[in-house]
Amino acid sequence: MNPIISAASVTAAALTVGLAAIGSGIGQGNAAGQAVEGIARQLSSPVLASETSPHWTYGGETNPTQWGRLSHDFASCDVGRDQSPVDIDHVILGSPAAIEFNYAPTPLTVVNTGHTIQVNYEAGSHVTIDGKTYELVQFHFHTPSEHTIDGQAAAMELHLVHQNSAGELAVVGILINVGAENPAIAPIWDHIPAPGETNTVEGLTINAADFLPGNTSYYSYAGSLTTPPCSEGVRWNVLAEPIELSEEQVAAFAALYPVNARPVQPTNGRVIELHAAE
Ligand SMILES: [Zn+2]
Repeated sequence: MNPIISAASVTAAALTVGLAAIGSGIGQGNAAGQAVEGIARQLSSPVLASETSPHWTYGGETNPTQWGRLSHDFASCDVGRDQSPVDIDHVILGSPAAIEFNYAPTPLTVVNTGHTIQVNYEAGSHVTIDGKTYELVQFHFHTPSEHTIDGQAAAMELHLVHQNSAGELAVVGILINVGAENPAIAPIWDHIPAPGETNTVEGLTINAADFLPGNTSYYSYAGSLTTPPCSEGVRWNVLAEPIELSEEQVAAFAALYPVNARPVQPTNGRVIELHAAE
């Protein structure tokens, strides 16, 4: 058996295997959600703060190659061995598994962090990955995609950031291609505040479940935050099936943030596994 295979060659097979799982992973909140309710609300944690100091950028003198030198707190950006994002190239077929998504609507709160557009999430929505439950804290966007597949970037990438009661982070990444208009994005794009500001929108809710593709087969690997302080110990899960935004919807984000993606980092021998939804 040859466990090392190209990501592109196995993706189609995995998606076929996983088609039967469409919809089954999305359900209502349950008792597990109640158990972890209340954690991860404190966004003062340095790993989840929407802004960190000193100032860092995607271009110019404080670009990603310099992040590790900007602050002692950012040292992992330079010396970390398990950094994100990565190119998803050679993957190993892992055990068949699906991420169990239990997302509920949340009041719409849009933050323009100065680095991305972020939607904060109230307690009560979570994912279960490999038997561990993580609460959804926020989601945000990058352009172009941070993760690449066989060297190819997508137009954008959505990051759903979760944390468990032990403070461990699990991020679900969803690649976004240019295609059909996506109605789920409109309420967010329509309520973007000025940089550094938060817009709490009265009377509107949003459900992150509306961004999930039908198939939740995913690539998993051990990585880091893709922004300073580049903290490691982040459980990464990149869905194999992309979603779509229209050209206009991608352009609306790129008008604010033309490039907010960290380049791919060396894998340093890390294994990327593909888990096909059953
Ligand atoms: Zn991100």
